[in-house]
Amino acid sequence: MIEFHNVEKYFGDFHALKNINLTIDKGEVVVIIGPSGSGKSTLLRSINGLNTISSGKLVINNFDIADKKTNMNKIRRDVGMVFQHFNLYANKSVLENVTLGPRLVLKENEEQSKKEAMDLLDLVGLADKAESLPSMLSGGQEQRVAIARSLAMKPQALLFDEPTSALDPEMIGDVLDVMKKVAHEGMTMVVVTHEMGFAQEVANRLIFMADGEVLEDDDTKSFFAHPKEERARQFLSKII
Ligand code: ADP
Ligand code: MG
Repeated sequence: MIEFHNVEKYFGDFHALKNINLTIDKGEVVVIIGPSGSGKSTLLRSINGLNTISSGKLVINNFDIADKKTNMNKIRRDVGMVFQHFNLYANKSVLENVTLGPRLVLKENEEQSKKEAMDLLDLVGLADKAESLPSMLSGGQEQRVAIARSLAMKPQALLFDEPTSALDPEMIGDVLDVMKKVAHEGMTMVVVTHEMGFAQEVANRLIFMADGEVLEDDDTKSFFAHPKEERARQFLSKII
């Protein structure tokens, strides 16, 4: 579903992604870890076109993103993204935040979009907050609404960029529980997080990045049991 072939990314002279080769299959849950500045966000942002790549080939859902015929709007619709800061519309209710995309982009009617949104709010445990404004929610609740909003677009894959790192510790568990549910429903997920409990429980694979490179890409069990790279081992010992 997502293929990187010799992908390079430069910001001016700065080499942010170095020879990235990765394949992520449909239904896989992949966790990416690595020190700050190692290129994790740049890699995620490349997948839904928030970043261009400098060279190499990136194929999403069998569409080469460099091909002029590829519809990038469709790719962005098919690949949702959940950020550290959730950016809900402050002057719209929780329900409206979730129905807006489906109404405007997927051209769903009001009744259908509301029904689907309520099902999703139920999934994230916030059906009772449908009429609230985001300002009345906790950070963890806002992030759960952001996840419902992404799911409302019926994505084929969801990218998460440190979705819990801006949250108070007591809020993190509920957000991770929602992500686990989404994973168990078969969603293809690429998650940048240092929540290793989540990784151990739901990730098929763990990727360790440093200095713009993928240094290790292994199934979760092997990674935790015996990281092959010394830097991965050191990093893991710091975050566990
Ligand atoms: P991570 O998410 O692993 O912390 P990032 O992908 O955000 O790392 O950044 C990788 C490197 O690329 C950093 O050194 C960062 O400063 C640089 N970088 C990211 N985005 C830009 C940009 N738009 N312009 C210039 N440099 C950037
Ligand atoms: Mg980042």
